[in-house]
Amino acid sequence: MKNTYDVIVIGLGIMGAAALWRVAAKCDRALGIDASGPTHCYGSSQGSSRIFRRAYWEGNKYLPLLQHADLLWQELEHLLQKQIIFRTRGIFIGPQSSRVVAGSIETARQGRIEHEIWTPSETKNVFPAFSIPEGMQTVHEPGAYAISAQVARLGMLDEALRRGATTEFGNTVVDIKNQGAEVLVTTRNSRSYRARAVVVTTGPWIASELMPELYGLLEPRRVPIYWFKPKIDSEKLFSRKRFPVFLYECPNGSILYGMPSIASDEPGVKIGFHNRQQSFARPDWKSFAVQDSSVKEITEAVEALFPKLERSPIKEKNCFYTMSPDESFLIGKSEALKSTYFASACSGHGFKFAPAIGDALANVAVGQQPFVSLSSFSAHRFNSTSRVF
Ligand SMILES: Cc1cc2nc3c(=O)[nH]c(=O)nc-3n(C[C@H](O)[C@H](O)[C@H](O)COP(=O)(O)OP(=O)(O)OC[C@H]3O[C@@H](n4cnc5c(N)ncnc54)[C@H](O)[C@@H]3O)c2cc1C
Repeated sequence: MKNTYDVIVIGLGIMGAAALWRVAAKCDRALGIDASGPTHCYGSSQGSSRIFRRAYWEGNKYLPLLQHADLLWQELEHLLQKQIIFRTRGIFIGPQSSRVVAGSIETARQGRIEHEIWTPSETKNVFPAFSIPEGMQTVHEPGAYAISAQVARLGMLDEALRRGATTEFGNTVVDIKNQGAEVLVTTRNSRSYRARAVVVTTGPWIASELMPELYGLLEPRRVPIYWFKPKIDSEKLFSRKRFPVFLYECPNGSILYGMPSIASDEPGVKIGFHNRQQSFARPDWKSFAVQDSSVKEITEAVEALFPKLERSPIKEKNCFYTMSPDESFLIGKSEALKSTYFASACSGHGFKFAPAIGDALANVAVGQQPFVSLSSFSAHRFNSTSRVF
């Protein structure tokens, strides 16, 4: 019947694109709806590159998902016959007892992930662009890589279409409600769609009227990101063959992250603070200007760590983190709405997990068990009413 689907995915950032890709193979009628175009500069998935690493300082509860995601990134690359994985290697630097160093070593040991521990001079021998003060330690993860973010997201959508799914862009969902055994989805242009199951992946917009049970649990935050150009004659030091994806925890606890350029539309080394310069912002506020004080702060940090980068960024812009209180994910099943599943609040580190989270959402949406348990990411931990799958 027209406008009746097995599964509707609302929000086609990386989480929704991954869910649609995975669900399209499991049912006859899948629909993906997004308020914006296939590419846009709002929300969280914009831009050309993201980091993938498995020596995860954030904890070993992420390991099964990381393992599954790693396989699915490779599967996607194989399907697309396009490079989406850039094997740059990864280094995670900080004082010995810092979260980044101690946490990365612990997860690497528990997960039997190949890694080495280096001094600052050993680090400089391999990656000469870095100027690391004595007393710091480096965890080297040879298997870490950069993901070509835009190519991967558009590739997932192409794969979903190839498997028979439909997509609608420029169409905002304004209401989801139960209707008999089904779920009724209504868009701003007054169109209605029915589905047996709905997946909500609206990123920083998720704690809206669509999912009121998530009110108060999530905070969208604007966070700037910068690109720095190598000084003349130093370009090779920052090429993706000689410059890894990295995290750097300063002695004061600030964490910088960065990666080499992997796409011609984003030249320069991409660098940002992971846990600083964040401010609450509604995702509809389309202000892209970065404060001068933030530019000054990152310039000082970058100058100390990378003396061969030009002092001022060549470009800066704002992106969105959707933060949960413990900086982990929020994935589950709605209590109020029948057969409605959600995934968001990826707290600024969710991209790398997207194929595995999308796969789990697709499985539960068609009544199958997820391949990897997501119970650690349930909203139950905050006494929310929404359920674990
Ligand atoms: C600067 C920056 C750097 C990052 N670096 C990394 C990294 O290196 N590694 C990593 O793993 N993660 C990283 N992350 C985190 C990662 O990018 C996010 O976790 C991920 O992109 C979240 O994707 P999403 O699909 O949940 O949300 P989004 O990408 O925001 O997608 C939500 C989509 O929903 C649509 N939408 C919203 N409301 C509606 C509605 N009512 N109806 C229809 N559509 C709607 C929007 O248009 C949007 O397309 C980074 C994030 C930022 C901001």
